[in-house]
Amino acid sequence: MPKLKRDVIKYVRDRAKSKYEKGLACEICDKTEQLDFHHFYSLTPLLNQWLTKNKHNPEYIQALRDDFIEEHHAELYDYTATLCHAHHVQLHKVYGRDPGLGTAKKQMRWVEIQREKHGMV
Ligand SMILES: [Zn+2]
Ligand SMILES: [Zn+2]
Repeated sequence: MPKLKRDVIKYVRDRAKSKYEKGLACEICDKTEQLDFHHFYSLTPLLNQWLTKNKHNPEYIQALRDDFIEEHHAELYDYTATLCHAHHVQLHKVYGRDPGLGTAKKQMRWVEIQREKHGMV
């Protein structure tokens, strides 16, 4: 897959993030400071896949981004987790900076296991 220019992702992220509903505490350790919003389905491969599949030209991302957001509502807003920065970093250490879309369920299970370790379940 071709590498997307960084600002293509940025246009989509900036548009989508106003509706992110971050939780009040880390889902793993209950910490309430320095919270991050994690997507189990990473935006970069998701957008890449969509542009390729529909043969869209990334240059027109500003005109296309609302369609992308509408078609990926679940991935952008539901399959997400609020994590403290430390746990967010830890997750990305295990699964990489832009985890492959095929790892989403594994990531969810990883969060579940960490929750158990912290007595959150
Ligand atoms: Zn945490
Ligand atoms: Zn993340």
